[in-house]
Amino acid sequence: MVAVIERQVIHVVETHIDRGYIASPSITELETEGSLIFCKPWKTQNGDLHTKEDFNINLKNKTATCPAGHCEKFEYGKTVQFNPVVCDKCAVRTNCTKAADGKGRTISILTWSK
Ligand code: SF4
Repeated sequence: MVAVIERQVIHVVETHIDRGYIASPSITELETEGSLIFCKPWKTQNGDLHTKEDFNINLKNKTATCPAGHCEKFEYGKTVQFNPVVCDKCAVRTNCTKAADGKGRTISILTWSK
């Protein structure tokens, strides 16, 4: 597909891919050239609570924004903990986490080979 795009001498503004292709060198090349890369996370289970799919995860900016609109920076391969003070006061906390008061919601961000 990259070869076909190059022959047409076009600039790819957005690339929508299956999550399995995220580590492809071609995707890295497109991202380096300025294309925005979009992919859905794998289906996650979290009972009745918000899943990772309910968060807006921006791989380029390394930010995760929760359903209540709070944003945290992350590092690949690490667990993001949302601010416990914010989570303790959150109106939708019972839909998001069963963590004890003083503990924020966490989500894990897998390593991306970049
Ligand atoms: S509990 Fe925390 S992470 Fe969950 S929606 Fe509320 S502020 Fe966001």
